[in-house]
Amino acid sequence: MIVGALGGGQLGRMLALAAYPLGVEMRFLDPTEGACCSQIADLIVADYTDTAALDRFADGLNVATFEFENVPVEAVRRVASRVPMFPSAEALGIAQDRLNEKQLFERLEIPVPPYAAVDSQAELQASVKRIGFPCVLKTRRMGYDGKGQCVLRGDADVTEAWRKIGGVPLILEKFVDFERELSLIAARGRDGAIAYYPLVENHHAGGILRTTIAPAPNVSRELQALGRRHLQMILENLDYVGVLAVEFFEKDGVLLANEMAPRVHNSGHWTIEGAHTSQFENHLRAILGWPLGDASPRGHAAMVNFIGELPAKKDILQIPGAHWHDYGKPPRPGRKVGHVTLVAEDFNNLETCLQEAIKLVGNKSSFAG
Ligand code: AMP
Repeated sequence: MIVGALGGGQLGRMLALAAYPLGVEMRFLDPTEGACCSQIADLIVADYTDTAALDRFADGLNVATFEFENVPVEAVRRVASRVPMFPSAEALGIAQDRLNEKQLFERLEIPVPPYAAVDSQAELQASVKRIGFPCVLKTRRMGYDGKGQCVLRGDADVTEAWRKIGGVPLILEKFVDFERELSLIAARGRDGAIAYYPLVENHHAGGILRTTIAPAPNVSRELQALGRRHLQMILENLDYVGVLAVEFFEKDGVLLANEMAPRVHNSGHWTIEGAHTSQFENHLRAILGWPLGDASPRGHAAMVNFIGELPAKKDILQIPGAHWHDYGKPPRPGRKVGHVTLVAEDFNNLETCLQEAIKLVGNKSSFAG
């Protein structure tokens, strides 16, 4: 059994680690020589536009997927013409464009912040007038980890933001004064069965995810059900197969959808040790047409990203319930190079361990509890 994935970063690496015990081999294609998957699985180094390499990649695969959201849709289509490919090129195409995403959410009656498509400076001025300050200007495509976006608080920011990211299709959104950021991950199988993970709480700094607390504390049954309904609408509407993540802003009992990721997600890394079946295993089970595993949590878990460089391993490992993950990537400012997951039976213990980990990791993330 061989599964292929377009993209060869840490998400692929964790997929490959989940594939081993299932008796599944993995093959990756990534343009970067030495992409971190190459340490543990076959890697074809080639551009996503290299059709001969894509055909070589697809040859003999049982099923294919992608672990990188900015893989060209044409590459996914090419592979999909030769082997089963999940999620679909259509789902990827929607997720690659923030405007398409918002329109899908609206069509499915999932609340979103007020927004406008912006293609010119005049449209930007008009949209700012309509939406009001503060607002956020984002590139529609190729944005990740807070890249390609600017917060606008006054007129001076408008000109500056246009100078910085103007000239490509943009979207302007109302800045949401949210209570917190939550995300929800689910896996949908080829038979339509869905396994939902619980809502988790995410803390970002500088647009990059720093910590996840799973399950999110103080989530009512209604809010959990609301999140599941939103995900179910998307999964079923797209006839989606695989793991899907949706990021929400929680505000006054409402979940405003920010964006979706048609792949395994950073806010689901805690599932490796913190859930009965990890998001990586469930993604593989889903695309292979196998029964999904139990997505319920084993207790309380938290994940802290290592950004830029790894902290001192011995210090992190002395924290009770700590699980170290090194992605095998060279250090670089702003790059995700690993994470630690903390698991505890008791939430108070988890909070203590999390504070210790955050201090050791030295990132600026705060944890409000
Ligand atoms: P994104 O790339 O859309 O996930 O944005 C990265 C982070 O920027 C989010 O996780 C939020 O912390 C923040 N952010 C993005 N859009 C908004 C918004 N409309 N209002 C408030 N904060 C936002």
